[in-house]
Amino acid sequence: MSDESGGHGADHYREHRPWQDLDTMLSVDEARDRILASIEPRTAKPVAISECHGLVLAQEVRADEPVPPFRNSAMDGYAVRARDVSSACYGAAVRLTVVANLPAGREPDRCVGPGEAVRIMTGAAMPDGADTVVRFEETDDPGPGPETLSGEPWTVAIHRAPKPGDNVRQAGEDIPAGAQIFAAGALIDAAAQGVLASVDQSQVLAIPRPVVGILATGDEVADPGAAIRPGQIRNSNNFTISGLVREAGGIPEILGIARDTASEIRAHLVDAAKYDLLITSGGVSIGDYDVVKDVLQSEGRIDLWQVRIKPGKPMAFGEIAGVPLIGLPGNPAAAYVAFLQFASPAIRKMRGLRKSQTSILRARLLQDHENRGRRRHFVRGILRESENGLVVEPVPVQGSGVLSALVYANCLFVIPEDLDHAAAGAQVDVIPLNRYD
Ligand code: AMP
Ligand code: MG
Repeated sequence: MSDESGGHGADHYREHRPWQDLDTMLSVDEARDRILASIEPRTAKPVAISECHGLVLAQEVRADEPVPPFRNSAMDGYAVRARDVSSACYGAAVRLTVVANLPAGREPDRCVGPGEAVRIMTGAAMPDGADTVVRFEETDDPGPGPETLSGEPWTVAIHRAPKPGDNVRQAGEDIPAGAQIFAAGALIDAAAQGVLASVDQSQVLAIPRPVVGILATGDEVADPGAAIRPGQIRNSNNFTISGLVREAGGIPEILGIARDTASEIRAHLVDAAKYDLLITSGGVSIGDYDVVKDVLQSEGRIDLWQVRIKPGKPMAFGEIAGVPLIGLPGNPAAAYVAFLQFASPAIRKMRGLRKSQTSILRARLLQDHENRGRRRHFVRGILRESENGLVVEPVPVQGSGVLSALVYANCLFVIPEDLDHAAAGAQVDVIPLNRYD
């Protein structure tokens, strides 16, 4: 293996002649399956519900108590006995004696007898005897004032006959007692987070997000803000990958930049065992200084290298310190595409999601597209609605080093490896890219 020199010998090139590789190279699906076969979901742990958004539940959840826990008013109005006011109409109101004024949160201390009403606020428990709430708008309610607060009985005119049960929420009408609300494996979204609270779960057993260590490699890359020498470029990959890790639901931790020597890469990975997943970029091609896979080979294990994908062919997968490592290509757009195909599914599996890939759409291609080279081509595209459904076209610049095209693109569309020409009008698979609009 190459070490401090970083160089490869002639044997290396005899072994890895790129023009022979296509036939033996793994397809995208084979590579992804192999990666996923060696990835396990993280171990579940108790998580406070304030922190569980986006996590996968590792337990079932049942409601011990009904939700809502008691019969209550759905409106601000008057709690009445429907039969007392069944004749009410505009012009012939029925007058009831108001015996209490009941805000939400206070227990009713009076029941409603014949000819009586309780002035009631939304969410207050229904007093016994009452079966219906008539909204303020259908009464001559005086509004909050001395009369309503004095405690002295007064009368209210009911202008319209309600249907029995109107504006009353029954106990358990949201969730009956004993009902199973969630099965293990459910993804906790915003609504689920609230439902957990409503059934009094202050913490649940959930699968934590994987922590992902991100390492850039290359003598030529320098962080933004750092001094730069002639021949150097900015390290964009660590930041793109960090964002992609978050979009996949992991927690990114940037481990810096390793120079192109095995010892630098080892030094940056001394704490490898802390992470659930490691992602490197660069150093996995067949160039003189591509030492990431050498380190994998010597320090851990290399499971696969090179995939029939465009862009993104030189990617590697293996293990170091017992932690899976995905070696993405250095070219920024290639790293992005390979991340979505291989790293994102790995992160999603670690999170316990059943579906390892995000949803795919179908759209009509607006122009011919060549795909020479028998690799699955992920083309940066613009997806939009048209009168005849979704349509997609490539962004003008597709070079694998051109990251900015991914800012303009809103999707990747897929030309399969067995198709060397996709004609305008063909339906293609489309992977929408995360956009926060
Ligand atoms: P490599 O895979 O290491 O041969 O790198 C391929 C290309 O990607 C080269 O042009 C590198 O300069 C570029 N590259 C590698 N790492 C980064 C990075 N962290 N940020 C931006 N470009 C990079
Ligand atoms: Mg490099």
